[in-house]
Amino acid sequence: MEFKKKCSKCKVEKQSSEFHKDCTANDCYRSSCKSCVKKWRDANKESIKAHYEKNRESILVKYRQNYQDNRESRLAYRDEYYKKNKVAVIKTNIRWRKSNRDAYNAQRRVWYSNEEHRDYQQSYNKKHYQENKDYYAAKCNKRRAMKHNASPVWADSEAIKKFYADAQALTESTGVKHEVDHRYPLQGKNVCGLHCEFNLQIITEKENRSKGNKHDE
Ligand SMILES: [Zn+2]
Repeated sequence: MEFKKKCSKCKVEKQSSEFHKDCTANDCYRSSCKSCVKKWRDANKESIKAHYEKNRESILVKYRQNYQDNRESRLAYRDEYYKKNKVAVIKTNIRWRKSNRDAYNAQRRVWYSNEEHRDYQQSYNKKHYQENKDYYAAKCNKRRAMKHNASPVWADSEAIKKFYADAQALTESTGVKHEVDHRYPLQGKNVCGLHCEFNLQIITEKENRSKGNKHDE
């Protein structure tokens, strides 16, 4: 909740949002306003840096301790925020993922390399599938229909079949899962590819996952 508060430095009365949070203070806000803090920080850059260098270890210990101590309230706050702003949070996340695909993939890889996380994700996927079978069936049907629609009459079905057989053979001989990929995705944003032998390639599952619906220009 917003309230008015007088800055102890500049003595101006301002909205509480103009102050940094500080939960060691009685009203949970710092006594000087954000712009005064900034002025002070800019004026004392060197000595702040020197202080940090000198006391780095103890500062870190204190911060970590604080972080641990506030874990419960932090998580509760996060859950509450998520509940209230679910759609906005999801939209922001999707936007971030789209414009930072490489960073996102790297982050996912690190997260996924943890066995506990992997187990969690796999059981989540399983549960999601069980609870949303209709959705997955519809998605699968849509894809099948798309492949069908995207198959020109001149497509060589034997050549197409060979791609799938070759991918299977490669998987078996190398032990690395290979998949048939549409160079231009069937459901790309700007371009739609065809389900024909000229638009197919064999790549590893890993390459395919990191590709998403991108394509080379
Ligand atoms: Zn001030």
